[in-house]
Amino acid sequence: MAHPRSFFAELSPDTTVVAAGRPDWNQGEPVNPPVLFSSTFISRGVPSEAEPAYARYDNPSNHPAEQVIGLAEAGPNDAVLFASGMAAIDAAFALIPPGGRLVMPAHAYNGTLGLARQLAAQGRVRLSTVPIDQADAVVAALAGGEGCAPAALLWIETPTNPLLEIADGPALVEAAHQVGAIVAVDNTLATPLGQRPLEWGADIVVHSASKCLGGHSDLIMGAVVAVSAEHDTSLRDFRRIHGATPSAFDGFLLLRGLRTLALRTERSNASAATLARRLETHPAVEKVIHPSLASHPGHAIAKAQMSGFGGVVSIELAGGAAAADAVAAQTRSWAPATSLGGVESMLERRRRWPGEFTDVPESLIRLSVGVENVDDLWADLSQALDRG
Ligand SMILES: *Cc1c(COP(=O)(O)O)cnc(C)c1O
Repeated sequence: MAHPRSFFAELSPDTTVVAAGRPDWNQGEPVNPPVLFSSTFISRGVPSEAEPAYARYDNPSNHPAEQVIGLAEAGPNDAVLFASGMAAIDAAFALIPPGGRLVMPAHAYNGTLGLARQLAAQGRVRLSTVPIDQADAVVAALAGGEGCAPAALLWIETPTNPLLEIADGPALVEAAHQVGAIVAVDNTLATPLGQRPLEWGADIVVHSASKCLGGHSDLIMGAVVAVSAEHDTSLRDFRRIHGATPSAFDGFLLLRGLRTLALRTERSNASAATLARRLETHPAVEKVIHPSLASHPGHAIAKAQMSGFGGVVSIELAGGAAAADAVAAQTRSWAPATSLGGVESMLERRRRWPGEFTDVPESLIRLSVGVENVDDLWADLSQALDRG
């Protein structure tokens, strides 16, 4: 690092994502860190923990991006990068002691819920799902009761994907800690520029870096930032043993994407809020879901704990699934594709996936707002809605 960790503690995260993870400022050093395409490193005798030996154990080319994400999340440790968001979530779930209880949102990202269900079916964990936007229900589930142990891990996702429910982060962290549970927050949709769960007291924060952090729809990666040294070590051990270490090239793409995170987030958040307001007036749209709207039940909490309301907007169409499929067939600026958080705007009808929960309405379209001109985006979307 060109500067000590303490230097970044004074800075805003939008500066950190530009300034951190760079080589020392010695005469003749490159401004950007080198990328090493080597699976193995010269090594004799007993290697120390700090020296590179084999790229699955730890890939030194990924350290700069790990520093940037750790500092942006205001973590005491660097992030641990994984080969996908799901690999990162798998490593986080491995922190639950055998048979421990996992409390998680009933509408968490469907991959996360699928993994939790599989672990529960194997007897590895006990699973309770909760409406994460209803704090009383979450608090009751954390405590357990009659034949039901208190939670070992509370998993929070806020906003949830794709229903955009808002959890009261600080309140839930406090309630979980009271029963001795650790708290993990999936911060994929908000990014560290939108909210910093470690400042609420959360123990770990998790990302699908494939989304906003990478930001260009060209890589698959995950990241975890842990507060305790013990969790940090467990995550690194898990990654090494399970072979979930990402490649140097993806680390390079991620670091390059992170440099413009603030610009991209500012633009897509602003456009998402504008489009949400315009969509509320379109006759083909039955419901608009975005935390920026006064009509959103989590608006006040989102306003208190977030800066910006995110770049994802969900809409329900009056014409049902057929109308939603027709919209996806008629846009030319909005790419019909899954994923979110890229510079290019995307949309999809979520229930086209057989695995999506039935609580997600058939007509729901998730819009991921990119960085294009907002009037062009509106013109394209509104003509597709008019025709759908
Ligand atoms: C995409 C996503 C994941 C999974 O990440 P991958 O990189 O696709 O493995 C996890 N959580 C949320 C909220 C996501 O949107």
